[in-house]
Amino acid sequence: MDVIERVLISKGELDRQVEELGSRISKDYEGQELVIIGVLKGGFIFLADLARKITIPVDLDFMSVSSYGDSSKSSGVVKIIKDVDINISGKHVLIVEDIIDTGLTLNHLVELLKTRGPLSVKICAALDKPSRRKVDVQVDYKGIEIPDEFVIGYGLDYAGKYRNIPEVCVLKKDIYAK
Ligand code: 5GP
Repeated sequence: MDVIERVLISKGELDRQVEELGSRISKDYEGQELVIIGVLKGGFIFLADLARKITIPVDLDFMSVSSYGDSSKSSGVVKIIKDVDINISGKHVLIVEDIIDTGLTLNHLVELLKTRGPLSVKICAALDKPSRRKVDVQVDYKGIEIPDEFVIGYGLDYAGKYRNIPEVCVLKKDIYAK
C-alpha cells in the first residue's frame, strides 16, 4: 500500500513473539481463573493470534475506550464506549492491548478494573514505545519494542484504515503530517 514507508516488524517476527507470550501466559495462569480483556479496536488482531497460543481455558471479553478531548493527545482520562459483560470479581484479569505509548490509557484502565475486586490485573501489549512514556505502567507481558514512529497494521489504524495490513509498518511521514 502506498502509505507505507517501510515494514518495521514482519509477520514471522510477530508470530514468534505471540507464541512466546502465549506459552508464558499459559504457564503462569495454569489452574487459575483468567479473564482476558481485549482493548478495541486496535487489540483485536493481536488478541485473535494470542488467544490461539494460550493452552489453558480462559474467559474472553472486550472493552472499547477512547480518550477525552483532543484525540491526537492522550489525556489519560478514558471514556468507556463498551464495558466488559463479565464479572471480574475474584478472578485474574489480563488486559490485551495493541501498543503502549504514553501509558496513560492503560494506567487509567488498570485503576478502573482494580475497583471491581479482581485477584490481579496484568497487562500484555504487542508493541511498546518506551521513549514516549508519561506514566510508569508495569507491562507484565511485553511484545516488541519499537522506536518513536507512527505505525500502522496488525490492528493499528491511521484515520480508521490499514488495520488489516499483516505486518507492523511505519506510516509515510508526509501522510501523518497532513
Ligand atoms: P497511550 O499509551 O498513549 O495512552 O495510548 C495508546 C493508544 O494510542 C494505543 O492503544 C493506540 O490506539 C494509540 N497509538 C499509540 N501509538 C500509536 C501508533 O504508532 N500507531 C497507531 N496507529 N496508534 C497508536
